[in-house]
Amino acid sequence: MSEEKKDELDLLVGRMRSAAAPLRGTLNRLYEQFRDVRDGKVADYIPELAKANPDWFGISMVTAQGQAFDVGDASVKFSIQSASKPFVFGLALEDHGLEGVMNKVGVEPTGEAFNAIVLDEVSNRPFNPMVNAGAIATADLVKGADYPERVGRMLDMFARYVGHEVFVDTKVFMSERVTGHRNRAIGHLMRNFGMVGENFEESLELYFQQCSILVTCRDLAMIGATLANGGINPVTGVRAIDAQYVKYLLSVMLSCGMYDYAGEWAFRVGIPAKSGVGGGIVAVVPGKLGIGVFSPCLDLKGNSVRGVKVCSELSHMFGLHAFELDRNHQSLDEQLLPQRSR
Ligand code: GLN
Repeated sequence: MSEEKKDELDLLVGRMRSAAAPLRGTLNRLYEQFRDVRDGKVADYIPELAKANPDWFGISMVTAQGQAFDVGDASVKFSIQSASKPFVFGLALEDHGLEGVMNKVGVEPTGEAFNAIVLDEVSNRPFNPMVNAGAIATADLVKGADYPERVGRMLDMFARYVGHEVFVDTKVFMSERVTGHRNRAIGHLMRNFGMVGENFEESLELYFQQCSILVTCRDLAMIGATLANGGINPVTGVRAIDAQYVKYLLSVMLSCGMYDYAGEWAFRVGIPAKSGVGGGIVAVVPGKLGIGVFSPCLDLKGNSVRGVKVCSELSHMFGLHAFELDRNHQSLDEQLLPQRSR
């Protein structure tokens, strides 16, 4: 490592240490508070997911300046699943512009399960890009000369968010692919209405790939921090998404990100977020923070039980709800930068 790089790293580590103590304590307390929660069940409709250890539990936070805090199983890798959906929606927006995407997918919450075989009866569009139908339609919009190029562009996009190369879990991918009859049914229904192109079977494969990308909860927090920072990864300085689209990702996450719990989530927690059946949740406090939680036991709607609890608690603790009147986040700032507030 060059001297220059070493100095840079020392500076970064020093900065993280000096700011770490109070927030680290808060994360530890949260972890202790919820570690004994035993509610929910590991997803098993994708057989490979049933192998997850129900005890796994990790929480990460990355600030919009790139300071990172973890507790628990923050380095265990799991498949991103539906938490990938906002970001592929972002790629579709970059490829086709807002109206181009809106022709093929709406932004209305469904109130239905994420894998419901249902389209808007008037427009024939899938309701929104956060449920499977909408996500398959957005995957169909990812451009590329051929399938490998489309997959490559999608993986590169995730790499820009997380700040390192990402890989697909082949076993999860195969498991989804072999059992993905519902998703195929949705694909055929959308093909019937011209919402996906004639190559939609290839787009289904792309969708299975995107769901099978391996991440840690630290990666999810970094992805969140990138959105919190206007689309630029705060550690690498690399832009992951065109700034003009960040608000669209965040608003659809707030209204539709937590499946058929999305309304109550927006009401009670008020933070744009997306969950996946692998047990991950990515949440974003715009301008401030990315949060990643991982715990594979899911509630009946498919959200991580501990993940929902952690985000709710954080929201209440620091007043993070989008419509909180006193949104200066003073209590959070005091934990992040104690030296400045004294
Ligand atoms: N790959 C999963 C599926 O298509 C994703 C679902 C999810 O995370 N909600 O069923």
